[in-house]
Amino acid sequence: MTTDVLIIGAGPAGTALAIDLVRRGLDIRIIDKAPRSFDGSRAKGIQPRTQEVFADLGMLREILAGGSLYPKLGIHLGPLTAPWRMYRTKQPSADIPYPNTWLIPQYRTDAVLHARPSIRLAASYRNGRVFLAGADPGLLDSYEAERLPVAAAVLGLSTEKYNDLSKLDTSSIRRGKDEQQLALSYLGGDRTTTLRAGDRAPDATLHDGTRLFDSYRGPHFTAMAYGPRATEALDRLDWPSAGAQLKRLVIDARTDTGTFRRVYGLTEDTLLLIRPDGYIGHIATHGISAATQVAVRALTSSVKRCGFR
Ligand SMILES: Cc1cc2nc3c(=O)[nH]c(=O)nc-3n(C[C@H](O)[C@H](O)[C@H](O)COP(=O)(O)OP(=O)(O)OC[C@H]3O[C@@H](n4cnc5c(N)ncnc54)[C@H](O)[C@@H]3O)c2cc1C
Repeated sequence: MTTDVLIIGAGPAGTALAIDLVRRGLDIRIIDKAPRSFDGSRAKGIQPRTQEVFADLGMLREILAGGSLYPKLGIHLGPLTAPWRMYRTKQPSADIPYPNTWLIPQYRTDAVLHARPSIRLAASYRNGRVFLAGADPGLLDSYEAERLPVAAAVLGLSTEKYNDLSKLDTSSIRRGKDEQQLALSYLGGDRTTTLRAGDRAPDATLHDGTRLFDSYRGPHFTAMAYGPRATEALDRLDWPSAGAQLKRLVIDARTDTGTFRRVYGLTEDTLLLIRPDGYIGHIATHGISAATQVAVRALTSSVKRCGFR
């Protein structure tokens, strides 16, 4: 049997990666040292950003069907039980369609993840050395540079909450936007009035009722042109035939009465490049064509060298 990618570990990270690679047409094999799925429940709170990823992977409906909003928790003080709301319930909005943390046992989430088509879970693995092969060193470096600060911030937040818990500080059991992961950002760079490159690309509704998340869903990049200068640059944009595909979207700045312009903070012609993971890869408002082409080369050059399909 030939395999493009061998994934070690069938937890949420490994399985989500497997689903994403399968939909890109790669042959994968996922193995785990455990003979069966974990039947307890640790990761029971599915954060809003995770729900957006699940929607992209086409599995959010099952996750919502198998869970609920967080009920109040009870803080036991001797004979008394004080009710406490960990999360304030919010209404969905145009840019944040899933604003609330969703409570679902981990074994149900695992079952939905593992039930995706073409995922085979092997119960054993071969001992020995494991190599990550085929990736360009520059690509691996960029991954580390991007992810390390985010991972450090998440770990720092958990440590802070844990320490406050031992001091009986009630803020340690309160959860807010940092835990819900909608404000994560990866890079600096060009800006609109609300967003910059590296931010999460929010959802929005266009004048014809189309939702942007529906356009983003899948393993492709999306380039969105707002205004005539950006549309012209989008027409000229050269995109490699290998690797992830590009979906081109033109939004008519004269007729757009939806939430896009407000949510994306657009005041002039703008070309936005959205990465497959739902983050903004590049924003160009000046020298649109040249600036975007440089960004495209930077984003796709490693992929071409690695020979990914
Ligand atoms: C108490 C607790 C509560 C949590 N609550 C939440 C929550 O409410 N919401 C949330 O989003 N997250 C929560 N988390 C975090 C969440 O569980 C993790 O972020 C998530 O499980 C990480 O997924 P993973 O796939 O990276 O790792 P894991 O879930 O640890 O999966 C790794 C897999 O790899 C396998 N494996 C390991 N080594 C090998 C090997 N050498 N060879 C083969 N297989 C191997 C393991 O058997 C396992 O199946 C919680 C964690 C804990 C501990």
